[in-house]
Amino acid sequence: MALIVQKYGGTSVGSVERIRNVAERVAKFKMLGHQVVVVVSAISGETNRLIALAKEINKDPDPRELDVIVSTGEQVTIALLAMAIKDLGLKAKSYTGWQVPLRTDNAYTKARIEHIDDQAMRADLNSGHVVVVAGFQGIDADNNITTLGRGGSDTTGVALAAALKADECQIYTDVDGVYTTDPRIVPEARKLDTITFEEMLELASLGSKVLQIRAVEFAGKYHIKLRVLSSFEDEGEGTLITFEENSMEQPVISGIAFNRDEAKLTILGVPDKPGVAGLILAPIADANIDVDMIVQNVGHDGTTDFSFTVQRSEMKKAMDVLEIVKGAIGAREVIGADKIAKVSIVGVGMRTHAGIASKMFKALAAENINIQMISTSEIKISVVVEDKYMELAVRALHQAFELDKEPASA
Ligand code: ADP
Ligand code: ASP
Ligand code: MG
Repeated sequence: MALIVQKYGGTSVGSVERIRNVAERVAKFKMLGHQVVVVVSAISGETNRLIALAKEINKDPDPRELDVIVSTGEQVTIALLAMAIKDLGLKAKSYTGWQVPLRTDNAYTKARIEHIDDQAMRADLNSGHVVVVAGFQGIDADNNITTLGRGGSDTTGVALAAALKADECQIYTDVDGVYTTDPRIVPEARKLDTITFEEMLELASLGSKVLQIRAVEFAGKYHIKLRVLSSFEDEGEGTLITFEENSMEQPVISGIAFNRDEAKLTILGVPDKPGVAGLILAPIADANIDVDMIVQNVGHDGTTDFSFTVQRSEMKKAMDVLEIVKGAIGAREVIGADKIAKVSIVGVGMRTHAGIASKMFKALAAENINIQMISTSEIKISVVVEDKYMELAVRALHQAFELDKEPASA
């Protein structure tokens, strides 16, 4: 007998019929003698609908109340699924975040899980229930409802698996695993049987929304056996996130991620002298704005240009801060650009292979795509390009690195 945590995303619970299908899949595992905890998302589109509703009242909704609103989506699906499971003659019980309780910090809309009390769930599992938990939501120390950030049900699933010391966490979604890139953009994308934890962490942080980054972090921290699978197919092993690398079979590049959620800020005519980077970025950090890529151009005429990227939603806030910085350091102008996209290639094989960056830049040049910024780490290379070229860039790179083909063993 194993303890399995299964998480079903929005499309997988997108209609009454699909909820019944999920109930049947859960029942199959229960009948095999396993204990099953199910985490569900809201019906697809519901979270967006609730956010839009809140914005009709106020363009910039109060974060506490926004979390109260958006958490209702998952409350609907847990009850529907628990009912559907009971209809199949099994015992089931739904839990909202506070009923678990799943404790978080108080950072509304992006709260972090701090503690999960497993007692009540365990008692229900031991008495033969399927436990159905609302994803994405928790409760802070003052009993305020919080949510974990978009896509946060993945994190609920993996965190519950960690708290319950589950044998496996299965993420059921609308694709049958992790692909070399989003199959919606590149139809030739290939499903991976396994991907290393490190690569999955990079892909998630660089924009692949198939798993929320915090879910991957949790899996790494607690060594959770994590698998991504299709909720629409009965066959298939999905993709297993592995913790060991098999360097013999390791492709150089495993996947391509992309993201349109950033904006580029440039401050022109910055006096070229020691300390200015700090003078620019410290007030940005003080305003709690995360900076991603940074480029400082070569100086000329005693001045230089300095660019960096931030989350697009924070562009306005960052521009306001930079306007003040501009006056303080005697820079000339602040420019914001939100029509940018970041495209990244990821692979642990990069550690042992040279020439990957030049191959990437050549492939983009062949499509006449101009690179605005570059950043690299040991296992990834990211470039910023104009956003209208994003899909073309992803396809060109997918082809250049032959990701549609099974990698040849080294
Ligand atoms: P869910 O609602 O089940 O959480 P999501 O929409 O959050 O599903 O995530 C699944 C989607 O992630 C897929 O439909 C696919 O378009 C997208 N995706 C992005 N990158 C990848 C990738 N590398 N492999 C598979 N799917 C990806
Ligand atoms: N319903 C939430 C969202 O749409 C959480 C999730 O689906 O994982 O972001
Ligand atoms: Mg998701």
